[in-house]
Amino acid sequence: MPSIYLDNNATTAVDPLVAQAMLAVYQLGPSNPSSQHALGRQARGQIEDALKTIGNCIDTRLDQPGGPRLILTSGGTESNNLALTGIADSGPIIVSKIEHPSVIAIAEVLQRAGREIRWLGADSSGQILVEKLPELINIDGRKANLVSIMSANNETGIVQPIERATQICQENGIPLHIDATQSIGKLPLSVDALRPAAVTFSAHKFHGPAGIGALWLGSGVKVNPMFHGGEQQLESRPGTEPVALAVGMAKALSLATSDLDDHAAHMTSLRDRLESGLLEKHPNLVVHGVDGPRLPGTCCISFLGVDRQSMLMALDMAGIACSSGSACSSGSSPPSHVLMAMNRSEDEINSALRFSVSKFSTMEEIDQAIASISNVYLRLRKS
Ligand code: PMP
Repeated sequence: MPSIYLDNNATTAVDPLVAQAMLAVYQLGPSNPSSQHALGRQARGQIEDALKTIGNCIDTRLDQPGGPRLILTSGGTESNNLALTGIADSGPIIVSKIEHPSVIAIAEVLQRAGREIRWLGADSSGQILVEKLPELINIDGRKANLVSIMSANNETGIVQPIERATQICQENGIPLHIDATQSIGKLPLSVDALRPAAVTFSAHKFHGPAGIGALWLGSGVKVNPMFHGGEQQLESRPGTEPVALAVGMAKALSLATSDLDDHAAHMTSLRDRLESGLLEKHPNLVVHGVDGPRLPGTCCISFLGVDRQSMLMALDMAGIACSSGSACSSGSSPPSHVLMAMNRSEDEINSALRFSVSKFSTMEEIDQAIASISNVYLRLRKS
């Protein structure tokens, strides 16, 4: 049975043009940008070109002394860990309750080591309670040293008020780290206009290779390294830079951002069709965050009366790939901390599945998916 892939928030297919660009790098031979010989200089040039392209895509200049810079990492998890451990080495940190596990887990590690973590809640529509930030920043005269908030939630696709969060953080003189892993390449982002302290992203979410991501740092923002051992990337993240992966990330981001509006419109129309097709057949379904801003291609639906894990497996058998919660936790699949933070009912939480399309998804796939999902739901509800 052909598989219909509706799990693009977990990871995306590598764009063939990205694979081609990476192959061209591999074919050039050994590439260590720190080597002083001609091959090394060639590799350094490729890294610099990749950084320049990435900078253009997110509207930031990365070549100015003392200006913003981009640290290449292994992906979103590492960038988030680096931001939380490295940007402020003491003092309270504010983290929202709907963050990705790669933010929440490192916050909890820091908490166990004695660091104060202040948790920012969300409302039932899935947005963080951004207006509560000022009171969390200053508690009994103790000012927080870092805020970490995602630009869009990976489970629900709900877009977060990061402009307002940035404004509040700037007014209070506190650095803001944005986990933009799900929105980058799907929603426009000008980091120089927004001016947060740091931004995380990861190439495999926008048709680039897995194993590379970045942490953008604003002018003057310093980060203590997590790794030690070399002088690469100004010692912020030592280790040989993976040239082909960096070239692949730059190519993927330039493809994503250059056709962003067209792809967003395509994905939105598929997402809307999926939702309306399913709601027509099953008006009792709950689509989370439907009245607010959402990522173009993501929907989170509660299939009331069925268990999400049974539904996921039955859909897999029917050739539909989707997800229950974040892919990082789907092995054990604890109930969604995101829907819990949104105060949704137990039935809604237990029956929630995420479907996420990409620029490569088609209307035919969606129509087929509607029929299969509906059949599986009817069958499981009866059993
Ligand atoms: N943040 C968010 C919002 C994500 O969705 C993910 C991936 N699910 C990550 C961070 C982690 O990214 P990576 O898989 O590249 O480590």
